[in-house]
Amino acid sequence: MRITDLEVISVRVNHRGDWLHVRLHTDEGLTGIGEASHGGFGPDRDAIVSAILLHQCQPVLRGRDPSAVVPAVSALRPLVDGLATATAVSACEQALWDLAGKATGLPVYRLLGGPSRERIPLYANINRATKERTPEGFARSAAAAVADGFRAVKCAPFDGMDRAHVRDLDQRARRRLGLDCVAAVRDAVGQEVDVLVDCHSYFDVATALEVATELRRCGVSWFEEPLPTVDLDGLARLRPLVADLELIGGETLFGLEGFWPYLGKGTWDVIMPDVKHCGGIGALLAISALADSRGVAVAPHNPSGPVAMIASAHAAATLPHLRALEYAWGEVGWRESLVAPAERIVDGELVLPTCPGLGMALNEDTVVAHRGPDSQGSG
Ligand SMILES: [Mg+2]
Repeated sequence: MRITDLEVISVRVNHRGDWLHVRLHTDEGLTGIGEASHGGFGPDRDAIVSAILLHQCQPVLRGRDPSAVVPAVSALRPLVDGLATATAVSACEQALWDLAGKATGLPVYRLLGGPSRERIPLYANINRATKERTPEGFARSAAAAVADGFRAVKCAPFDGMDRAHVRDLDQRARRRLGLDCVAAVRDAVGQEVDVLVDCHSYFDVATALEVATELRRCGVSWFEEPLPTVDLDGLARLRPLVADLELIGGETLFGLEGFWPYLGKGTWDVIMPDVKHCGGIGALLAISALADSRGVAVAPHNPSGPVAMIASAHAAATLPHLRALEYAWGEVGWRESLVAPAERIVDGELVLPTCPGLGMALNEDTVVAHRGPDSQGSG
């Protein structure tokens, strides 16, 4: 079996971005799918990732045997020079595993030596679904996610922050509003549900400590990205000052080389490799093994569509020390119809698919109904 073509499929989601996919075609009619969403920060990020997939990844993959995943990924790796290329390569890696599984008739987690579990524990990221950015708005989303069966919810309630002016009055007010949202979420879900807080890198050490005090008051220990990931010195200073909280990060890092500086220094308690950016399924496992050797837990970052969700789940299924996988709760009503068979979530856990490969395919009717601007190429 040989790879013949590469297709980029985008679907419109919301103001936070679209879901971008790569589909590899073969001369035997099998196809493999991977997700390449959120590969940058500007408005053109999907167009850039799409161009990388078509003009840089496709020439490397054409003519290759997709069931030889590792050599194909090794050939793609020199393309990685930043988040956009890392995202494109990571998406191709997922699609290669999908094809390798289909070629052998096995689910990907079987090829990886698993599974360790049949269901993947999830936490509900309510942030993207919460359009009313008030304590009441966050509380409503959190209560609805808990009613859906989730036992942990994550919010990122600090909006319109400017790290260069963290002490301005306006910034203090925004910080206060964010913390009021956290308190409202805690009130809405009670003490039995975990509340996770993502700070989106908005603070410096001093303001991070102020926020930490409020998080303790709300019974929150998950302290995600209080400082920018590049601020290794700041993170090293903050680390002992919030020893009672869990410092979490790493959502856009690529490969072992991306995570090692933090794992070597003991910066984080939990790392969040993202299957869309870290190098894919195999990289997520290698990074997780390194984290495990340092006593660091793994909770894959995944505020993504159902394809990245399933790709993450295959990796997560084999991890001996998985914390939980992120789930983008309530983002769009048609999410369930984008892939077939649909994601099965029971009591806040994803039921592993059993079909060969990743175990699902895009539903063409839904793709057509929500087609995004960056779809390119053909099978
Ligand atoms: Mg985050």
